[in-house]
Amino acid sequence: MPIESLFPTRVYTARLQGRGGGPLRSQLLRECRQLRLDDRAGRRWSAANYPGGYTSYGSANRMHTLSPTFAELQRRLARHVNAFTEALELDVAQRALAMTDCWVNIMPRGVAHGLHLHPLSTLSGTFYVQAPGGCPGLKFEDPRLDRMMAAPPRRRGASREIQPWVTLPVEAGELVMFESWLRHEVPPNTAHADRVSISFNYSWF
Ligand code: FE
Repeated sequence: MPIESLFPTRVYTARLQGRGGGPLRSQLLRECRQLRLDDRAGRRWSAANYPGGYTSYGSANRMHTLSPTFAELQRRLARHVNAFTEALELDVAQRALAMTDCWVNIMPRGVAHGLHLHPLSTLSGTFYVQAPGGCPGLKFEDPRLDRMMAAPPRRRGASREIQPWVTLPVEAGELVMFESWLRHEVPPNTAHADRVSISFNYSWF
């Protein structure tokens, strides 16, 4: 058919490779749990902004500069960030992308994280440290949704790339990356165990 797809929204998923990936993830999990115990300011921030869960977004949000374990995660993310930057054909020759934020999220049963985007960043993503069976994936929204004032709904069963929302299942040891303007949310955790993840932003300014 003489139809082109323009303005793609690209989402990158990969399994974090490399030796010692399992032990790294176990150590990250221990540190995420320890941080929740130690970070009183973060627990207070979470009570106001992340009901029922814990995030260090408002307190310890540069974990890659505080913990060698998180720094190792950052090191292992680098090739994926480079690959995604290539795929997006971003011109970062003059100024490289750098990790600006890296924080912990712990979502017990029932906790959700509503629609949001990551302002003041270029690329954002999440590494899944623990993803119990049945826990929610990461749900993305078509960035043009607010312009579809008179558009009929998509047909049930419409192809994936044309759906207004797409949920990617998440698995421990995997990472997801997207451009920071892409709105996303985590539906309520219906699993009985904590969903634990580490989110990060990269910026070029
Ligand atoms: Fe997010």
